Amino acid sequence: MLSVSALTAMRAHAQEARRAGRRIGFVPTMGALHAGHLALVTAARARSDIVVLSVFVNPLQFGPGEDFARYPRDLQRDTTLAAAGGVDVLWAPSRDAIYPEAPQVTVVPGPAGDRLEGAIRPGHFGGVLTVVLKLFGVVQPDVAVFGRKDFQQAALVRRMVRELNLPIDLVVSPTIREPDGLALSSRNVYLDAVARAAAAALPRALAFGVEAFRSGERNAAALADGARTVLDAERGLTVDYAACVADDLEPQVSADERSVLVVAARAAGTRLIDNVVLGEGLEEDIRVAG
Ligand code: AMP
Repeated sequence: MLSVSALTAMRAHAQEARRAGRRIGFVPTMGALHAGHLALVTAARARSDIVVLSVFVNPLQFGPGEDFARYPRDLQRDTTLAAAGGVDVLWAPSRDAIYPEAPQVTVVPGPAGDRLEGAIRPGHFGGVLTVVLKLFGVVQPDVAVFGRKDFQQAALVRRMVRELNLPIDLVVSPTIREPDGLALSSRNVYLDAVARAAAAALPRALAFGVEAFRSGERNAAALADGARTVLDAERGLTVDYAACVADDLEPQVSADERSVLVVAARAAGTRLIDNVVLGEGLEEDIRVAG
């Protein structure tokens, strides 16, 4: 595996690969790698000849008072995991390489970026789309892989790729979960035992919604309320939202197989998000061994 930091080195390497006719797969991350990220690498490998994984904790997507400063960073560990996971090029640019000057040109996600996570974290998705577009501009991948775990992010990147005519195949890969259903996340390291136990209510709330859907419930508000009841019953959680939306994030009155149940809550100050496609259920996701 090649490790690069400089933007010029990354660009040169990608250009060389492209000239050699190799298809480039790209997995953008903020590091603190886990099996969820490595599943994206596997998905990228299956669709390309060379896999680039970026590690960059993007200051632009963190709001004031959020966890930018304490976000887990361990490039040495990430390097070991990436190499073992089949990454060809690990790109870990510095903050100055990505933002040599205060950004004036940024991406506006549109109304879908102001809902759900965007309502709780104003400006978050503008920061996400801006950095993703900047990373795309350097790597110029043929295929980019994102996790379904961050459903709204994936939906907004999909819209950006479509509206800005980016020549990139976007792949959204299933969520990797702990044996009790909790979605893997770099932020799970913040959870102590009590908060960790409370966090398991998120996949339980999603499973409850899926069961209701399978029993015939189609009222989107009722499905969201059911999930919320499960979350509210967990004393260790503060619920941010539970909603049932269309796969393009539009609000829905009546749910269908493609509708997505999304939940967000805080456990002892740590934000957790999760979602499920109602027609698929959590069975479509992959559990790591216990
Ligand atoms: P992050 O480093 O948390 O910004 O995530 C980088 C990419 O990994 C994003 O596309 C996430 O959606 C994806 N990802 C994070 N956690 C998981 C998970 N548990 N399963 C699948 N993909 C994930």
